[in-house]
Amino acid sequence: MKIAELSFLIVEDEEFQRQMLVEMLKAAKAKNVVTATNGQEAAELLVQDPSVDIIICDLDMPVMDGLEFLRHAGEAGYRGSVLIASALHHTLLAAAEAMSKAYSVNLIGVISKPVTWQLLEEAISRHAAPEAKLHVRSVPRRAFTPDEILHGLTEDQFEPFFQPKVDLATGRVVGAEALARWRHPQHGIIAPAAFIKILEDSGKIDELMWVMLRKAIVFCGTVNTMGVESSVAVNLSLKSLNNVELAGRVAATVERHNLDPSKVCLELTESAATTNLGAALENLTRLRMAGFGLSIDDFGTGYSSMQQLTRIPFTELKIDRSFVTNAVNHEAARVMLTSSLQIARQLNLKSVAEGVETQQEWDLLQELGCDLAQGYFIAKPMEVNDYLNWLKELARTPNSIFTSSILAPFTSRR
Ligand code: C2E
Ligand code: CA
Ligand code: CA
Repeated sequence: MKIAELSFLIVEDEEFQRQMLVEMLKAAKAKNVVTATNGQEAAELLVQDPSVDIIICDLDMPVMDGLEFLRHAGEAGYRGSVLIASALHHTLLAAAEAMSKAYSVNLIGVISKPVTWQLLEEAISRHAAPEAKLHVRSVPRRAFTPDEILHGLTEDQFEPFFQPKVDLATGRVVGAEALARWRHPQHGIIAPAAFIKILEDSGKIDELMWVMLRKAIVFCGTVNTMGVESSVAVNLSLKSLNNVELAGRVAATVERHNLDPSKVCLELTESAATTNLGAALENLTRLRMAGFGLSIDDFGTGYSSMQQLTRIPFTELKIDRSFVTNAVNHEAARVMLTSSLQIARQLNLKSVAEGVETQQEWDLLQELGCDLAQGYFIAKPMEVNDYLNWLKELARTPNSIFTSSILAPFTSRR
């Protein structure tokens, strides 16, 4: 959107700073600029005109500070964008950023003062009109009942989308993660957030797991017959591990399809403490003995932490997206990332960074010696045919940084 089409609310107690922002925006021909000298004034202005596109907000202000104002804006359901401009230390800015997100404020940037036009313009370019954002919603507002989900499963409406895992040093595609999608006849493609937890809570997550495992195995076979050596990763709910029969059944399924277990990696996320630790450990140890890969997902968050590493025979450590995303700009996240990589190296685990979205993140990970990367920068999760076409396309574009020498068979066959 052009700046000339946008309205702004500047919340800043220092006169000079406030005037400077007004001048910059006026010079860029902003449609409308209003100002407030503290959070209280701003909150009142926002009640009068909630349609303001972008709020530029200082944090440290008298009467009502920026934190409280952003809380009010979030609670009032403000739909525009917010840009924090502050002279506070970067650790405080990081905390304010996290807080804004928790209050569902659409934060488009955090700028340390002094604000320059370049920084301002860059942040403003991230603003998207609220209508545009609405289309992204793939989860209907209403929650599904377990019966609706199970019906979808019976009707074979669930399938994996695949997202490539790429070797950071060579650019080779080494595998793909299977992510569940519900192809709903009325609502379109539905993401896991709308059904995983419900299936787990109703004790039916295994039904989805078997669908995902079978389809992922078939996919892996297809890719391998194309001459691309590739593994596949399937997400496994901890709930599924309560049944001690699981490992044997998984191994039998893979064997029936003539796939080597080493081609299958099971990714484990722990969102709650395990109820049946004994059974979980028995299953996981047996799976590892059978040759399956075991990945600790979302490492560094929730229960997915150090203690798990000491008792489960993992082969891979997946660093949570939040540390990857913030590593470029936030010191604390970078320290977490670096330490996680060090732990992986010392324990002889493959390290995977998830949620890689930018060249900067890719470069940093490469520099830090991370093994594998996954994320929108490389490719979004794709339905099976799109994934296969993507692989073929990759073989035709030899200059891509993800070029795969593994893909040579495609090139020579042409
Ligand atoms: P996860 O295993 O951590 O998967 C990564 C999530 O990040 C996926 O979301 C993926 O689409 C998304 N993602 C990948 N790259 C990027 C990126 O660059 N930026 C951003 N912002 N996001 C990225 P998705 O597909 O919505 O899955 C969410 C979670 O649902 C998964 O998190 C996993 O825990 C769970 N899940 C997915 N499929 C299954 C399944 O078959 N069984 C079980 N039990 N859980 C599943
Ligand atoms: Ca995963
Ligand atoms: Ca994850």
